[in-house]
Amino acid sequence: MALLLVKDLNNNIIQFQHLNQLLNSQSLHMTREEKFMMEAIALSKNGSENGEGGPFGCVIVKDNSIIGRGNNKVTSTNDPTAHAEVVAIRDACKNLGTFQLDDCEIYTSCEPCPMCLGAIYWARPKVIYYANNREDAAAIGFDDSMIYEECSKPLSDRMIPMISVAHDEAFRVFEEWKENENKIGY
Ligand SMILES: [Zn+2]
Repeated sequence: MALLLVKDLNNNIIQFQHLNQLLNSQSLHMTREEKFMMEAIALSKNGSENGEGGPFGCVIVKDNSIIGRGNNKVTSTNDPTAHAEVVAIRDACKNLGTFQLDDCEIYTSCEPCPMCLGAIYWARPKVIYYANNREDAAAIGFDDSMIYEECSKPLSDRMIPMISVAHDEAFRVFEEWKENENKIGY
């Protein structure tokens, strides 16, 4: 494994053998948000170095504890939805035994793509912290901006045609849901 070389505040170069050493050393000067973000960044680094997927990591925090972790696993699991945030949300919800992330904080190493932003809104955490932004992602080949732009276009102008095939049967299922007194709303 490569050595990690870091400059301290006086421009001295410090050498670390392991990422954990670096995290522990720097943690003396970091805010709690920066410390949690470093955990997300470590996941992004490990996941991409291990060939699991793109360089993205995410942790979910509740009451100052990490309750969910994820890194991108798209290519290693053949799952285009296995983005770091989605993986972390699934982990957190499994650990908490709930489908809502009330009072949780999301720390993601990159601004969420529209899919993950949607998943995050469904999970309803209280705040999102991100490190790299969508332009940084586009610059290394992950064009989240394109999907954001698609969302704001009329359906008829989008790259992937979206065609209504309205059907009474589909609507009837909605009506039944509305009337169902045993449903679990979310
Ligand atoms: Zn995403």
